[in-house]
Amino acid sequence: MPGKDSVSGNLESALGEGAARYNSALDMTVKALMNINVLKEDIKYNKQPFHGNLEEQVPCELQNLFSAVVSGEIKTEGVYSFILRDLLASLEEAKSMSSGAAEVLVTILESWHRWTNLERESLVTRLFTLEENERMHCRKCRRMPNYPEQSSYGIVMAADSIRDLKCTFRNMKFVDILKVMRMEYKMLCDIKSGGCGTTNFVHHVISRCPSIFIIVLEWEKSETEKEIFETTKALEWEIDISRLYKGLEPGPA
Ligand SMILES: [Zn+2]
Repeated sequence: MPGKDSVSGNLESALGEGAARYNSALDMTVKALMNINVLKEDIKYNKQPFHGNLEEQVPCELQNLFSAVVSGEIKTEGVYSFILRDLLASLEEAKSMSSGAAEVLVTILESWHRWTNLERESLVTRLFTLEENERMHCRKCRRMPNYPEQSSYGIVMAADSIRDLKCTFRNMKFVDILKVMRMEYKMLCDIKSGGCGTTNFVHHVISRCPSIFIIVLEWEKSETEKEIFETTKALEWEIDISRLYKGLEPGPA
């Protein structure tokens, strides 16, 4: 088996810098998912075969890679790179290589969701899915329009705004930084449906708290190493999600 350097070297020169970046995002995503024990257990005990049109929807390589990781078949980084490359090829068919890490993650979660969602509630739904309602109570005309429920895997936040707030307010908790940023999100009281056109704050409401809440950082500038480090200082592994959403009991402080 070729060594790690020659495998990754050949791969990068063959696919170019963009593909290498995509590969790196995929690698990071797979490794992060594999740190979640319940997902590993799901792969171990889910013997659901691919058949019929499911085969078109779910890249078999995804199952191959995750099964190989879980079973301990992968002994060297070289073997891992080869299997990862097959997955990369199948994902390229579904998504363009210009996709960011967040889109790669969504593609993987959706594939997983379809694979396991035949008879029972998908693990991905239970762990990651956020059913959210936006509520607006117009401060002028008192209208309270109903917006349809939206389903997502988390929220997307700008990395530079997180960094700026953390640099200004050193002691501010991550969840409060997110809260301040989300307050900038406002909505018009819709004139077309009888509203008055006033701009209002929006409340976000959820009724069930997902076990894993994904926060995607959007890097819009070419951040320096120092700026990336400054941004990571703001991040925390656990947050009290009831500070971001209404409809939940407050968590432990
Ligand atoms: Zn209004």
